[in-house]
Amino acid sequence: MARYIGASCRLCRREGTKLFLKGDRCYSAKCALTHRAGGLAAPGQHGTSRKKASGYAIQLREKQKAKRAYGLLENQFHMYYEKAEKMRGVTGANMLILIERRLDNVVYRMGIGVSRAQARQLVNHSLITVNGKTVNIPSYLVKAGDEVAVKESKKERVIFKELKEAKPAALPKWVEFDNATLKGKVIALPEREDIDLPIAEHLIVELYSK
Ligand code: SF4
Repeated sequence: MARYIGASCRLCRREGTKLFLKGDRCYSAKCALTHRAGGLAAPGQHGTSRKKASGYAIQLREKQKAKRAYGLLENQFHMYYEKAEKMRGVTGANMLILIERRLDNVVYRMGIGVSRAQARQLVNHSLITVNGKTVNIPSYLVKAGDEVAVKESKKERVIFKELKEAKPAALPKWVEFDNATLKGKVIALPEREDIDLPIAEHLIVELYSK
C-alpha cells in the first residue's frame, strides 16, 4: 500500500496544527510547531501568504488535515465518507467514528504504539491480536467488547518490555489497556466527542457532497 514517507512535521506545519505524527516528540519542546519561530507558517515559499482562502480551499484543508492525522490515502479516506453517507445519523460524525474504529488507531489510542504510524506497523507485522486471533489488517474495524492485545509470543520484544514498565497512558474513555499484561479492551464504540482531533467534519462532508 502506498504511503506518505515525507517529513511528518511538514504536514503539521501545512495544516497549522499538531497532528501528533511522531510519538513522544510531539509532546516535547522539540515539536516543530513549538520550537520554530513562526512554527505555524506553512512550509514552502508561499507559506506566509496572507491571501484570504476560498470556501473550497478551507474545505480541502480540513479534509487534508483529517486524512493526514489518520495517515490515510485519499481513496481510503473517501471510502469512509461513502460508508458513513449510507449510515443513519450525521455523516461527518459517522465518518470520523468509523476511522477511529480502525485497529491501527485503536492500538495507538491504547498507547501500544506511540504514533498511528507505529501502531500500523505493529498490526502489519502480526504483533497484535483481537479476541485471541492475530489480525494484521490495519483497517479492521473493532467492535464494542473486542479484546486487543500484544501477541503472546511477541511480548518479550524490547518495545513491549518497555511498555510494561512505562507509566500508563491517559486513555480515551472508550478503551482500556493494562500495561502489565499488555491486554486491552474496547469498552464501547467511540462517540464524536471522544475524538479529540480539531476537525470540522461538516466541511469535509460539504467538500465531498459537491
Ligand atoms: Fe507534528 Fe509531532 Fe512534528 Fe510536532 S513533532 S510538528 S506534532 S509531527
